[in-house]
Amino acid sequence: MFSPVALYVVGIMSGVISAVVFGSLLRSRIPGLFRWIGANLLIVAALVALAFSDSSPPPLVVVAASSLFAGSAFLVLQGCRLFFGLQPSRHYEVVAFVLLAVGIVHWTYFSPNAGARIVVMSGFLAYVRLMVAWITYTKRPPHRPGYSYQFVAIIAALGGFVHIARGLAAGLGWEHHTRFLEPTPMTIAFLALGIVTLPCLSIGALMLAYDRMAERMERLAAIDELTGALVRREFMAQAESQLERANRTKIRLTVAILDIDNFKAVNDAHGHAAGDRALAHFSSIVSQGIRRGDIFGRLGGEEFAILFPETPKADALTLVNSLRLHLAASTVPVPQGELSCTFSAGVDEYQADEMLANLMARADAALYSAKAMGRNRVVSAVSFGDETAGATKDAPEPT
Ligand code: GH3
Ligand code: MG
Ligand code: MG
Repeated sequence: MFSPVALYVVGIMSGVISAVVFGSLLRSRIPGLFRWIGANLLIVAALVALAFSDSSPPPLVVVAASSLFAGSAFLVLQGCRLFFGLQPSRHYEVVAFVLLAVGIVHWTYFSPNAGARIVVMSGFLAYVRLMVAWITYTKRPPHRPGYSYQFVAIIAALGGFVHIARGLAAGLGWEHHTRFLEPTPMTIAFLALGIVTLPCLSIGALMLAYDRMAERMERLAAIDELTGALVRREFMAQAESQLERANRTKIRLTVAILDIDNFKAVNDAHGHAAGDRALAHFSSIVSQGIRRGDIFGRLGGEEFAILFPETPKADALTLVNSLRLHLAASTVPVPQGELSCTFSAGVDEYQADEMLANLMARADAALYSAKAMGRNRVVSAVSFGDETAGATKDAPEPT
């Protein structure tokens, strides 16, 4: 005689372990974790109730275990939606869940029908699993490795198909059920698959949670908190790879170094906090003014750089100059009223086979000239081949 108790025990242990591991991540405040812990606890409660019943559980256990299984699956879906920043559930899903519970009570107490219960449960569980698969697959962040997202999507989809198969087998009369979890070949296969799929789904969800944490860490390491620009190391790394690409493809590339004018005086007059605001304001103007694909980094203090891939120097000069005019025309609210600041910039274009340091040094020399010429201007380094090598010239005002 088949005894599913061993499977229940495995399921209970994996549910408890998953809940504990999810619990260890609670401090990360990753959305959806509470729902996923709840889902595991409901599974554990359902399996404990079943494990303590005999081979033919009483109606109350049938109703409780079925509702807990459905509730657990629903919580997994809700956690998944929260994880991806979506509303946890739809109204019709809540209505479907309530109707399912009513149906289970009806087909247990008033008109006992194990087959009908299986059909409605399988329909609900298949919907929930397939939704998890769809959301995880379609909402996976494009810049993250797809492995864990694909893993969850595949496991959830497989679970969905198993539920569909079980619902069809019961609904089309391929298998006749007279009682709850009757040990038919289909039920045994279903139970075994379910017990394997659930921990896999939990492991997948853990992989998603860890990927979210890795993404946060990478972001923290790459992005300057105050300005949202790339930190120096990350900017340089991206600049190096763009230079390599420009060398390979012979596509033009330009760099600009920007330095806020008289920033020490801003700090002295308005305080460091106002200076911070001015830095954030400057960065938001730059970030909004550059194009997709341009790379904006903070080299240190109030000095920044922008890399313009696939851009000749003249276009970069026009763009930086428009940023300059935009900043000069704007104000930053500070406790004493408002302040305005300007920047100077040096710009130069990459030349085949040169090192990043050379290119940056020429842009920096042009910036130095811009400061010497009175600040609030964009200066183009005169590159090798121009008539007065080493000299600088003002960028044209955009018309
Ligand atoms: P110049 O026009 O020649 O660039 O003059 P400057 O005053 O901008 O240049 P200087 O290098 O003398 O001063 C830079 C100032 O920027 C000094 C430093 O306190 C300030 N600074 C650097 N980082 C920050 C920051 O994160 N927040 C604030 N508020 N100030 C900063
Ligand atoms: Mg400065
Ligand atoms: Mg400076």
